[in-house]
Amino acid sequence: MADPASSAATSSPIAADAVVIGAGPVGLFQVFQLGLQGIPAHLVDALPYLGGQCAQLYPDKPIYDIPGTPVCTGRELVDLLARQIAPFAPATHLGQQVSALQPQADGRFLLATTAGTQLLARSVFIAAGVGAFVPRTVKVDGIEALAGSQVLYHPATPQAAAGRNVIVHGGDEEAVRAAIEATDIARSVTLLHRRDVFQADAADLQRLQQLRDAGRIRVVAAQITGIETDPSGRLNALRVLDAQGQEQSEPLDLLLVYLGISPRLGPVADWGLAIERKQLVVDTASFATSVPGIYAVGDINTYPGKRKLILCGFHEATLAAFAAAEYLSGAAVALQYTTTSSKLHERLGVEHT
Ligand SMILES: Cc1cc2nc3c(=O)[nH]c(=O)nc-3n(C[C@H](O)[C@H](O)[C@H](O)COP(=O)(O)OP(=O)(O)OC[C@H]3O[C@@H](n4cnc5c(N)ncnc54)[C@H](O)[C@@H]3O)c2cc1C
Repeated sequence: MADPASSAATSSPIAADAVVIGAGPVGLFQVFQLGLQGIPAHLVDALPYLGGQCAQLYPDKPIYDIPGTPVCTGRELVDLLARQIAPFAPATHLGQQVSALQPQADGRFLLATTAGTQLLARSVFIAAGVGAFVPRTVKVDGIEALAGSQVLYHPATPQAAAGRNVIVHGGDEEAVRAAIEATDIARSVTLLHRRDVFQADAADLQRLQQLRDAGRIRVVAAQITGIETDPSGRLNALRVLDAQGQEQSEPLDLLLVYLGISPRLGPVADWGLAIERKQLVVDTASFATSVPGIYAVGDINTYPGKRKLILCGFHEATLAAFAAAEYLSGAAVALQYTTTSSKLHERLGVEHT
């Protein structure tokens, strides 16, 4: 996958011509179409990687209805789209959810993310799909305050476990893999799941059994009911309840949580945009929402005849980019072909012919 420029979280707003919320297939193609219009874009996604549903829900499944591409997997489509936007080098802000969007007196929009990034945008493209993909959290009193320090949700690697007593919470392949990997670096590893049954491939399940037999992973079948902290607020132990109704205390330094990642519409519904059945109402000539300067494309929008298909989202992104180019420049924008336009060749960084 191409590696578009990344930018760190900032506290002062970054001025932007366009911000695309959502790096699913439609958000990625939106960046491409904006690039053709000469509009550089910032790209934000709650996931730590590009691709939205294609990457998160079906990376290895085949797609047969992308025009000109008889078959490709979800992952392959994302890789191709990432290559296609590479000439426009969007600034990407991954692993952060856009939590606020406020119109400003000068017509721009102030966006804030959960990582503290602030963007001051002249136009906004909401490509939020079925919602932000965010990890399922543990719901017990007081645990939120420990997120990011002693409680980590879906870390890409279990490196934080080095030298610590770690509890890995979850029952799927990610949890099993994390527990196995943590045994190389952690002081102790406990795998906590509500049942002593794990969903993972045969090789990982076999390795898990070997590590259990060797006493290097302890499995606890129970549910978390509370936490125990010291007076400074440091997490010392989890309180857990097993199937027999026995409550016990499980000491730890670090909790790694793998309870799955699922989409939540989240704050999009609070941005004052016309909405019907959790989808943003758009004008099909421009894919503008009810607020001038804000567009909605892909699965997040609704209009008569809407079909939640990737190719429909590509069309929407194309018309939205034309509309935004006219909105931002205040002038009509003529159609140009990528085949023949020297201006588009220049923007794409390809040789003139
Ligand atoms: C199993 C399956 C198979 C499918 N097969 C096909 C197929 O064969 N052909 C086809 O055309 N379609 C198919 N689809 C549908 C297709 O995947 C969707 O239409 C497409 O992914 C929509 O793209 P999108 O970019 O609009 O949204 P998404 O892919 O949902 O991406 C939206 C992104 O926005 C992010 N986001 C949302 N809110 C925020 C926020 N506030 N801040 C930051 N980020 C945010 C999310 O984390 C997500 O990554 C399939 C879907 C599924 C589930």
